[in-house]
Amino acid sequence: MANDNKNKPSKPKFSPYWVYGIILAVFLGIQLFSGGSMETIKSTTPAQFLQYLEDGDVAKIEIVNKYEAKVFLTKVALEKEVHKKTKSTSFLSIGSPNYTFEFGDLQNFENQINTIIRDNNLTTVLDYKTEHSIWAEILPTLIFFGLFIGVWLFIMRRMSSGAGGGAGGQIFNIGKSKAKLFDQNTVVKTSFKDVAGLEGAKEEVQEIVDFLKNPDKYTSLGGKIPKGALLIGPPGTGKTLLAKAVAGEAQVPFFSLSGSDFVEMFVGVGASRVRDLFKQAKEKSPSIIFIDEIDAIGRARGKNIMSGSNDERENTLNQLLTEMDGFGTNTNVIVVAATNRADILDKALMRAGRFDRQIFVDLPDVRERKEIFDVHLKPLKKSKDLDVDFLSKQTPGFSGADIANVCNEAALIAARKGSKSVGRQDFLDAVDRIVGGLEKKNKIVTPEEKKAVAYHEAGHATISWLLEHAAPLVKVTIVPRGRSLGAAWYLPEERLIVHPEQMLDEMCAALGGRAAEKVVFNKISTGALSDLEKVTKQARAMVTVYGLSDKVGNLTYYDSSGQSEYGFTKPYSEQTAELIDKEISDIIEKQYQRAIKILKENKNKLTELAEVLLEKEVIFKDNLEKIFGKRPHEREVLE
Ligand code: ATP
Repeated sequence: MANDNKNKPSKPKFSPYWVYGIILAVFLGIQLFSGGSMETIKSTTPAQFLQYLEDGDVAKIEIVNKYEAKVFLTKVALEKEVHKKTKSTSFLSIGSPNYTFEFGDLQNFENQINTIIRDNNLTTVLDYKTEHSIWAEILPTLIFFGLFIGVWLFIMRRMSSGAGGGAGGQIFNIGKSKAKLFDQNTVVKTSFKDVAGLEGAKEEVQEIVDFLKNPDKYTSLGGKIPKGALLIGPPGTGKTLLAKAVAGEAQVPFFSLSGSDFVEMFVGVGASRVRDLFKQAKEKSPSIIFIDEIDAIGRARGKNIMSGSNDERENTLNQLLTEMDGFGTNTNVIVVAATNRADILDKALMRAGRFDRQIFVDLPDVRERKEIFDVHLKPLKKSKDLDVDFLSKQTPGFSGADIANVCNEAALIAARKGSKSVGRQDFLDAVDRIVGGLEKKNKIVTPEEKKAVAYHEAGHATISWLLEHAAPLVKVTIVPRGRSLGAAWYLPEERLIVHPEQMLDEMCAALGGRAAEKVVFNKISTGALSDLEKVTKQARAMVTVYGLSDKVGNLTYYDSSGQSEYGFTKPYSEQTAELIDKEISDIIEKQYQRAIKILKENKNKLTELAEVLLEKEVIFKDNLEKIFGKRPHEREVLE
């Protein structure tokens, strides 16, 4: 990916490293020279010295650190032949001693000197001094300087890498945009062919590319080119992939970055990066800016009254709003953004004139899943019997990312088995693994627990088999997986509209597990937690969201804008709250009793099914058919 030169931060002309180097050198120099320890001093022995002293040659003796003596000769003595070699003309040695030596015991040495001075009536001076070695003196300072420079460099590098600057130490780049630029020099392999399904969304983004390539076609009739498009959809549905395809196909510069790239710990940096990004984009117009996960900066402003900490984010957002409104339509810069939290975005961001277009990228339906499978199966060595239709039917609710993951997992599973190709069973195992988590065959389960799980799962299976609207069963297992001890796999219909009787049948099937425990063992357990959670949510949604309860009536407390004015308070009275609670518990209780009734009526078959399950651990539709006969309702059950 070749970044454009303009996008690269320019190198500062004057590097601060030189300054540090010069300061350090001067400092070292001063330390070394001022210590005066560069001179060459002749060494001698204590006996020799005593002789010189006795001869009256010594002007001063300096006792350093109680073990070393430094000897300064008189001017007259320096002229003597014996001392000539110690005489130096170097300016460095001015004031330095002529001899040096180490003596043993200080007391003894002092006595000897004093005796000689006294006996010979000498004027020699005896001096004491404490000296530190040059390194001992400057080492702490050096370490301090070293650490200081190290920390400084570290901070600057962090800042510069945070600001997208390539060269170290460029703190000046912190306010520069961190967008990656894709242009004609950049090889982007993703194209619209790699995006399966998503016809509507693809068409819309293709049109955006077209706006930029042929603006006249649109503006000649007086129309204005949209300023922005917002890709909205659940995680993993291919929003980023779509944007990558735009980058690959559009023959215009494409700036890509994520919402969090604007965020920095310094105030004002986000806004400055937004300004810089738009400046760069305008310079290269026509161009596209892509901001992934825009919710990082685009959250509604002023909602968090408790803390003032999000001021910086708000400044960034304000700048973005200004820039999107600020550039004229003729600048030909289109902003494409992606989010899976459109509900929390600021309304000002979503209004026409900024993100004029909102493109919904939904979870794929069965046909789109097939196309996505086709894309991701291409690089795999698949077995001949692999039926892509079957796979796409087996994966309702899967996103494109999940499907990509299934394909990869299946290949890994096949490789682990040592197979030559990836087969149908590998895919089914991969789906199971993704839905239910890893099989834990050696999890310790007591026989009683195993029996309880078998009856629980058989309860689900029995009811879903017998009820018209419950999702048809695919497989039941009592092998522990992920956090659950057993699981039943269904194939839910992909419905666009759901009727109350369908919801109630599904709730009844979900309560079948607990009902089976009650019918068979006459005691219930904690094993139904996730079923109860699901059922309670569903019942609450029926009453408070979809207006499906007779007693509460045709009203909803759902707020699609996500910016409810009620905050933490309930939008209904205490009496209604009581009514809602009662209605929810009535719905659930009714379905529970219904499940108990069905299971009591079919207790023999339930027991038979549980026994088969205990024996085989995994059972499929065929096993149920053997026990219950054909499914009583005429719905087609997918193979
Ligand atoms: P998020 O909102 O979490 O960022 P997203 O919608 O941006 O998710 P992507 O990152 O685009 O999702 O998708 C992840 C991966 O899923 C892609 O790299 C691709 O392999 C696969 N994928 C998703 N949708 C499709 C699709 N329609 N066709 C082919 N592959 C897809």
